[in-house]
Amino acid sequence: MNLPTQLFIDGSYRNSSAGRRSSLVNPATEEKFVEVAAAAPADVDAAVTSAHLAWKSGWRDLAPGKRAEILFSIARLLRDNLERIAQLETLHIGKPISDARDEAGLGARVFEYYAGAISNFCGQTIPVARGGFDFTLRQPLGVVAAIVPWNFPFPIACWKAAPALAAGNCVVLKPASFSPLTALVLGELAHAAGLPSGVLQILPGPGSTVGDALVTHPLVRKISFTGSTDVGRHIMELASRDPKRVSLELGGKSPNIVFADADLERAAEASPMSVFANTGQDCCARSRVFVERAIFERFTSQFIEATRALRVNDPSLDATQIGPLVSASQRKISEDFIGEARKAGRSIACGGTRPQAKGFYLAPTVLLEVEPGDRCWREEIFGPVVCIRPFDDESKMIEEVNDSPYGLSGSIWTNDLKRALRVARQVESGVLSINSHSSVHVEAPFGGFKQSGIGRDLGMAALEGYTELKNIYVSE
Ligand code: NDP
Repeated sequence: MNLPTQLFIDGSYRNSSAGRRSSLVNPATEEKFVEVAAAAPADVDAAVTSAHLAWKSGWRDLAPGKRAEILFSIARLLRDNLERIAQLETLHIGKPISDARDEAGLGARVFEYYAGAISNFCGQTIPVARGGFDFTLRQPLGVVAAIVPWNFPFPIACWKAAPALAAGNCVVLKPASFSPLTALVLGELAHAAGLPSGVLQILPGPGSTVGDALVTHPLVRKISFTGSTDVGRHIMELASRDPKRVSLELGGKSPNIVFADADLERAAEASPMSVFANTGQDCCARSRVFVERAIFERFTSQFIEATRALRVNDPSLDATQIGPLVSASQRKISEDFIGEARKAGRSIACGGTRPQAKGFYLAPTVLLEVEPGDRCWREEIFGPVVCIRPFDDESKMIEEVNDSPYGLSGSIWTNDLKRALRVARQVESGVLSINSHSSVHVEAPFGGFKQSGIGRDLGMAALEGYTELKNIYVSE
């Protein structure tokens, strides 16, 4: 397979100005398979300066309909290359190929959505008290830095780049060091589809140098980040110096609430993949399960049975549901949580072991008899580990759900509509689903309450985040 190995700046591939390269390791084999250029601060300056030039000299003023045409062409080219994108995603992060195919399609769909949405993104006319005409315009910000994580590299790159570009911004995108390949292909294909040089730059490189240089660059007007709460906090501190706009999509510890009147079969069958999909490396993973006591035993045994049936295997096989974790260190984080739970006498109902000798695999793990103060119950693990606890009282359970610094996602299972809406209103979370585990819809806002983030990706809300709101008054 043809692998991209350089930075993508100004419409073409080039090496790092400092000659830096970093190795990628296939998580399924633990073997190094390619070296990719790693940007240096001078490359950040070159990319941001040329993005700013591209913005001022054309992209900013291009009619929205013309931008939409280019975005539709990008989507078409992405669709022609879905299999290549999916194969690369599986190679660099160990994502099961069937999920990687779905996510490649999701990336293309995001470009289609914003190509259509931009012509429906309107200002307002406002009946001001003194008469005359008052109206608002939505205008692009300039250069946007998009910093993307490794757990959903391609779709998140698309859902940051597409709305920013549609709204008339230029984008410098930094993929995570584990997963630069699909972002580079996005840059290459977008350019081939007619996106002018400089409008979308792709800069792989270490977060500590490339990230800091991007965030502090005087020509960067906004940072859109998805990743850990610690790095999000650091970005916000740096951005506050100028100050710059930030949107942050951070960690989560999402609840899965199952009431006794729920469709038990459906809930128990669907719930394991709501936490173990992507090997648990998902900010929306439903890793805290609250089950009403009357059905606790039945639900838990069905959940464990469904977990044991999950196919953990080589991610390049069509039938695989769970691949390896992204790295040895990411697996160690999960194993440390499991070790701590074991030491505290918690029950490990299944999993906790390495199912393969090679590759960063870890069997999906179910922890029972955990206490509300346990680290595994309170902290984001970002691996295939779930805790299940019974509850007796709805209001106490909601208090416990909300007793978390996070508030990203969650599910509520019940056949009582009034209860579903009452609980949904009270759970402090940016995204919730009722009788479903679906969190991401291209057309709807996605983001968190509390320490899960600031701002929203996707939907029309993302376009708001990539524009300035200008008010113009015309005297009569
Ligand atoms: P990070 O937050 O470190 O990485 C996310 C992105 O930020 C990567 O592109 C990374 O680059 C970049 N980055 C790192 N340091 C900086 C910096 N100083 N300035 C700007 N950008 C920076 O996550 P990790 O990969 O370290 O994962 C650690 C934990 O974070 C996980 O265990 C999980 O809990 C959480 N996480 C949450 C995600 C989410 O979707 N909310 C996604 C990923 C992780 P580089 O890869 O080069 O370091």
